[in-house]
This record gives sequence, C-alpha cells and structure tokens, in this order.
Amino acid sequence: MGYLSCEFVENGMCFIFDAVVLCSYSMCMKFEAIKIIEDYKGELFDWEKVKQIKQEYRDRFAKGDIPPICVGCPSLKEKDWSGSMELKYILINHWENCQLDCIYCHTHEKKKQLNKMKPWKILPILKDALAKGMLSNEGNVNITGGEPTILKEFPDLMKFFLEKTNIFIMINSAAVDYSKWIKKGLEQNRVAVTISLDAGTRETYKKIKNVDCFKKVINNIKKYQKGLNPIQNSLIGMKYIFIPGYNDTIEEVKAWLKIVEDLGLTNIQLELEHHWYEKNKYCPDNVKEYIQMIVDYVNEHKCNLSYREILTTCGYTEVIRHIANGR
Ligand code: SF4
Ligand code: SF4
Repeated sequence: MGYLSCEFVENGMCFIFDAVVLCSYSMCMKFEAIKIIEDYKGELFDWEKVKQIKQEYRDRFAKGDIPPICVGCPSLKEKDWSGSMELKYILINHWENCQLDCIYCHTHEKKKQLNKMKPWKILPILKDALAKGMLSNEGNVNITGGEPTILKEFPDLMKFFLEKTNIFIMINSAAVDYSKWIKKGLEQNRVAVTISLDAGTRETYKKIKNVDCFKKVINNIKKYQKGLNPIQNSLIGMKYIFIPGYNDTIEEVKAWLKIVEDLGLTNIQLELEHHWYEKNKYCPDNVKEYIQMIVDYVNEHKCNLSYREILTTCGYTEVIRHIANGR
C-alpha cells in the first residue's frame, strides 16, 4: 500500500561534518536537519543497525506521522515504496573548506577556522557499502561541501563512482580550480556541475565572493566545455543567486546573460538568496523583472531553466517555473 514519503527517507544517506542526517533539503531550506546518527566522524557502519534506524523513520512515514520539518516538503510523494534498503541518494557534505568566501555562505563567519579543518575520509564507507550490497548501482550522489575539487579524496571518489557504479554525480563547484575528473565525468554524461557565478562583472564577483577569480572561473568553464556535445554542455549549470543590494541591477544581470550567451551555456539556474528571503519573506519587484528577462532569454535561446523552490514561495510561480526546452 502506498504512503507519503521521500527518496531520502527510503533510500538516502547524507553526510555532514559531524553527523549523518536524513536529508539535505531541510538543511538548505529550513537550516536544520534530522540527525539519524550523531557524533559521526567517518567510522565504518554496522549496516544492520543503520537499516534499523532507517526503518524506524520509514515506519513513521508509513503511519502518516510526518516530522514537522518535513511537512509541506515538495519531495514528499505518495506511492508504493519498493522496500529496498539500498542507498540510491547520497549527499557528501562533510567538509567546509573552500577557496571562496561568499557573503551568503554559512561558512562566512568562521572562514579561517573552517578552512583549517581536516575532513574525515568517506571513501572507505562507500566501498564498504558497495561490498555489503548497501550501495545501489544507480541513483545519484551530490558532492557539495565546501569546494569539492579541493577535497583530498575528490579524485578517488570520482574514480570510485565512475568506475565502480553507474551513479550519476552532481557537483557544486566554484570552478576556481579545474578538475580533470569533472571533465571526464562530463564527457561520459555522468556528471552535472553547477557553478554559481552570481555576477556579470569582476567587481561584483569580488564583492560577493571576496576573491578576485572571475576571469579564472570563466576560463575554467571554457575548458570544461571544450569538445563537449550539446547534451554534455547542458550538464554545466550556470547559476545566479540574487542577493538584493549586491547583484540586483539590470546592468549586472545583462552582463551575466551576455557571458551565458557568449559561452553558449544552456542550463540556467536561479535562486533568491535564502537568508535574505528568510528575513524578508518576499521577492523584490526588480528581481521579478530580471527573472522575467532571463525567462525570455531562456525561451528565445531554447535553454533549460530551473529554480529553487524558494522562489515559488514568493508568489511568483506563474512566471517562474521549470522550463525544459527539449534539451
Ligand atoms: S520529506 Fe523533505 S525534508 Fe523530509 S526528509 Fe524528505 S526531503 Fe527531507
Ligand atoms: S563557493 Fe560555496 S562553499 Fe565556497 S564560500 Fe561560496 S557558498 Fe560557501
């Protein structure tokens, strides 16, 4: 019989720096998460115990006892869940180290301290999961952090996922460093990388990211694109996070769109900075106007557009929606 649940409850596992949590969505959208294993620093699991813990959550959802943090989550679906305990949806987010210092990042206040931290190793856990039949051969992994390309284990992680599984790899990267593993994954249609430039000019980029790497990032995007076919090119996501007071001017948005056009990028992503939204609870009129401009661009250039659900809570669902122009 069907019940309301989500892929993370049923088949997911999310690693943060000191715990395993139920999902990443609640962390991003509500700044909290349900910890299913606390004080965790990369120890190998007793998988039977993990299954028991996860089963308790599944039973809770099956009974309709949805945790308050999950109420209204767009990931909830009513269906017959398969019952399989294999991990299909993994979030790797257990380090905070990054070359940038974005003003909106949760790491901003403690940057120096967080950049000194040494992340624990995750590959042994994944290898163990594969050996014990706990890792599905399909599904997806989201490698986020911090900056993935500076994680010491990153090349080994990529090699593992690309060579030992069919898992699709989603990466959030600042693209300050070029990674041959990201390129390899793009060439194999196995990686999607999202780069949030958030600016159309070097000055604004510097103001938001606190480093002067605008040109370097654009050059790295060009390197990733070299030799890719249109489908592979569409695996490179270009994001603009609107941060009122920083990058919400027509000149900035036009300059960013010009970069998108010059590079021939077709996967466009928008977001309203969520701390700002949490405080203000509305989408400013000028941002709505720029979003409409981007929607027009997307339609004209047959791009794909995706947006974070947060924009739908701004009463803007009529204009902002996922637009897939057949790519
Ligand atoms: S329902 Fe939403 S918030 Fe709850 S665990 Fe699933 S994805 Fe996370
Ligand atoms: S690139 Fe990401 S992890 Fe790095 S500072 Fe910016 S938001 Fe934080």
